Amino acid sequence: MKEMVIVSGKGGTGKTSITAAFAALAENTVTVDCDVDAADLHLVMQPEMWREHDFSGGNKARILSEDCTACGLCFENCRFHAIISPAPSGPATAKPWINPIFCEGCRVCARICPAGAVVFEAAKSGKWFVSKTPYGPLVHAQLGIAQGNSGKLVSLVRREARAIAERDGFELILIDGPPGAGCPVIASITGADLVLAVTEPTLSGRHDLMRIVQLTSHFQIPIMLCINKWDIHPALTAQMEGEAQSHGIALAGRIRYDPLVTEAQIRKTSVPALGSSRVGDDIRHVWQLVLSALNGKIS
Ligand code: SF4
Ligand code: SF4
Repeated sequence: MKEMVIVSGKGGTGKTSITAAFAALAENTVTVDCDVDAADLHLVMQPEMWREHDFSGGNKARILSEDCTACGLCFENCRFHAIISPAPSGPATAKPWINPIFCEGCRVCARICPAGAVVFEAAKSGKWFVSKTPYGPLVHAQLGIAQGNSGKLVSLVRREARAIAERDGFELILIDGPPGAGCPVIASITGADLVLAVTEPTLSGRHDLMRIVQLTSHFQIPIMLCINKWDIHPALTAQMEGEAQSHGIALAGRIRYDPLVTEAQIRKTSVPALGSSRVGDDIRHVWQLVLSALNGKIS
């Protein structure tokens, strides 16, 4: 079983459309949406939900009002200002409460409360799903608004995808990674067999590509480059490809700009599902190259 992650330094490069197209072209694959902060792969993969689970990113404090003596210690010592007092100058006589959005679960309040009035509870911070799609199983998730721990949720959906692949004999796990180069991206690529960086020929795309390259090089994960909408700036495309090759990055090809990609999104499907097209041929070519690399035929 192999794992390939499609990443981009920022959102909006066409990464999700390419992942959906790969899922349509692949045989025997589990697809995972690791962009848990802004999941959208499900919008173009027509999922039919099999299972839904709550996700808890950590514990949050809660004050047991009946045990609280309103001493004010927790209010004074919460550095995240998560403890709210109904009294204007603090809880001299009023019992405080905790705003879970601001609580970081540091447990200071529980340690200092003389009345033992603070308890910790698992906080529901999102959901994850296993769905059936026309292209095989899809594992996806949605983190709640203002919730942290997206790296933990990314690791969870990847674990679930591996379990499905091992149980049902799928040979490939196709991962739509989060944008950027932070913790969720690290959680998405750790232990993967190949990273495909999708970028556009723009100055920001070039800068973001270098951040991805540094990350994959640090974790020693093979990386290939695909330039999407290459024809909006052919000269910069050639320059970026040259720079990539000088860093030892294999080229996975170019995909032209085509409004058909937007049409596929509007019709909630993938580019290959709309029939033959030149942009579809570009994507198919990239797919063949990354498959060859995954199978050890390109180094
Ligand atoms: S656990 Fe930490 S962040 Fe949360 S309310 Fe207590 S002191 Fe504040
Ligand atoms: S430290 Fe404990 S007793 Fe004092 S206000 Fe906070 S919860 Fe209430």
